[in-house]
Amino acid sequence: MSEFLDQDIKFLPGVGPQRAEMLKKELKIFTFNDLLYYFPYKYIDRTKFYRISEITGNMPYIQLKGSIVRFETTGEGARQRLIAHFRDESGVMELLWFQGVKWVKENVKAGVEYIVFGKPSIFNGKVNIVHPELEPAENKQVSVGVFQAYYNTSEKMKQKFMTSKALNKFQFNLSALIEGKIFETLPPSLISKLKLMPLPVALRQVHFPENPNLLKNALFRLKFEELFYIQLRILSLKHNREGSFKGFVFSKVGYNLNTFFSNHLPFELTNAQKKVVKEIRKDMGSGKQMNRLLQGDVGSGKTLVALMTALIAFDNGFQVSLMAPTEILANQHYNSIKKMTDGLGINIALLTGSTKKAKRTIIHEQLEDGSLQLLIGTHALIEDKVNFQKLGLVIVDEQHRFGVAQRAKLWKKNEFTPPHVLVMTATPIPRTLAMTVYGDLDVSVIDELPPGRKPIQTLHYYENRRKQVYDFIREQVTVGRQIYIVYPLIKESEKLDLKNVENGYDLLKQVFPRYSISMVHGKMKPAEKDAEMQLFKEGKTQIMVATTVIEVGVDVPNASVMIIESSERFGLSQLHQLRGRVGRGAEQSYCLLMSSYKISNESRKRLETMVRTNDGFEIAEVDMQLRGPGDLEGTQQSGIGFTLKIANLGRDGEILQHARNQASDLLDEDPKLQKQENQILVYHLLKMKNTEFNWSSIS
Ligand code: ADP
Ligand code: MG
Repeated sequence: MSEFLDQDIKFLPGVGPQRAEMLKKELKIFTFNDLLYYFPYKYIDRTKFYRISEITGNMPYIQLKGSIVRFETTGEGARQRLIAHFRDESGVMELLWFQGVKWVKENVKAGVEYIVFGKPSIFNGKVNIVHPELEPAENKQVSVGVFQAYYNTSEKMKQKFMTSKALNKFQFNLSALIEGKIFETLPPSLISKLKLMPLPVALRQVHFPENPNLLKNALFRLKFEELFYIQLRILSLKHNREGSFKGFVFSKVGYNLNTFFSNHLPFELTNAQKKVVKEIRKDMGSGKQMNRLLQGDVGSGKTLVALMTALIAFDNGFQVSLMAPTEILANQHYNSIKKMTDGLGINIALLTGSTKKAKRTIIHEQLEDGSLQLLIGTHALIEDKVNFQKLGLVIVDEQHRFGVAQRAKLWKKNEFTPPHVLVMTATPIPRTLAMTVYGDLDVSVIDELPPGRKPIQTLHYYENRRKQVYDFIREQVTVGRQIYIVYPLIKESEKLDLKNVENGYDLLKQVFPRYSISMVHGKMKPAEKDAEMQLFKEGKTQIMVATTVIEVGVDVPNASVMIIESSERFGLSQLHQLRGRVGRGAEQSYCLLMSSYKISNESRKRLETMVRTNDGFEIAEVDMQLRGPGDLEGTQQSGIGFTLKIANLGRDGEILQHARNQASDLLDEDPKLQKQENQILVYHLLKMKNTEFNWSSIS
């Protein structure tokens, strides 16, 4: 990087100390370089002019040409507003200012031809544009090519007239200075092989595109570079880790797995389960430490895979720990695994927050002398002083509830050789996100559900169908099924007008006086929750009223109906998780999404997606497109070690795959990045490392 570009932004012509403060505070633009890498969020075609008579209510940003007939001020003080009556040859409309009235009055003149730019709206049947951008038509625009770039700015900046246009101007001033001062950041061989646009050209085109094709190439070059470096970083860390850590070699398949296969397996494995177990076995036998993410939709049978993985560890004389995010789940795993391995003589214990001291002491002893083979539990597994004699495998269930740091603690339970790690998640992660967030893990996917399951039928009902819903509940309970009813909040929030779970419970008691109803929510003690859950599991209650605490993992095959109240309030992946609580038995299952009439477009899209598909991966893709990857559940905790300035994981999947392939090829050829021409990569990787999240702390 040239020193020139590291200069304080205040030295850029047109900026100065005050605006520099604003740029630093609001946009984190400290240097020339930061500005150069502050990319537009959109481009608008400024070759087209609309006529006032063509304007409708829902147009995007448009451009008009005409002049102001007269100004008019209404209101007093803070409520003052300025109206300009603006005319072209087709008609008249209003331009409106609520802020900066004084400035507009002093600077904008009636009778002069202006280019007006803004988003039209309709108010009281009249067309207007609020806070338009104005430019005298005779001014030759510095910035306008075919497309004009638009930059995000903050409200605070806008109040000081630091609009997108001002940024445009700064970019223009910068572009005049940096000729010959930008250096290539990728090796020449890669540039020529992939026919990438040279960096200086790309940086100019991205801010001042000359034509659509050049813009496209510029965007590609910059996105590629951004994703390529992330992939190079992840993959080289993975290489290094594999190079420096040996893993335990689980070479044997012995008594435990064999006996389980022939005598205990309650059903045929699905092909997907078989495939995944094979991948895991190969990995654990390779001499490398396994770091594997197991993705499988809800109900795909991950527990069984986890158990078989553990059996391989026992066969090789190692201990295993299985960590679940909640006590309910830890209990459930403990009970089902105990049942499935009955007679094999495996010593299994459960350790949670509510395990009694005396019991704990025994567990600790048995862990240290090696007689305890499998420890199942919650966070207590990490928080406690838990020491293993020979920990060979760590399984983490429903990973999205755990943070990276928590996982890291488990990684470190052994002094010399780290245990193999299997992370299981039921929140399908879009491929692109998995490649980045979990890019250093190998991924196995169970892409098939056990046979005989009927796809869950999902319906969206408005409030007015409530009576039919109650009838349906009656019908299902009469034939012996059980029902979940999920509410979004615990405490009533007047603002959102959500039904709280306790009201729901009281209401349902009145509607169904002869049914027994369980309730669980986040404010209950773990023991209370467990007791309620247990009643439902044993079929002693017909209806389970709950908040999203039942979202993960709970398995009650006889429950065949999931009713989600105020479903418009839930995120897509959450809805999908909740739906996954039913459809586990042989009966036809249903998911009813209740909502009010008034829902946003985005909510509608979520509910439509739920009705349309049961495929968790498809849902995850839609979710990412709707929300952007940064918001996705679990990704915050996963600690994505980068911020994307230009690429978008939702939209740029292909470029990402391309970048990953290129990074992988490059590391195959030059694993330690020792070639002269790759030194440029080493330099930039080092720079990334110094400025970002410490990836190596994960493993
Ligand atoms: P998840 O992947 O959501 O953790 P589970 O492991 O809880 O799924 O399995 C869901 C249900 O499917 C359980 O009741 C389990 O016993 C059952 N199951 C798992 N594998 C199979 C299989 N191969 N055939 C039939 N049922 C299976
Ligand atoms: Mg599970």
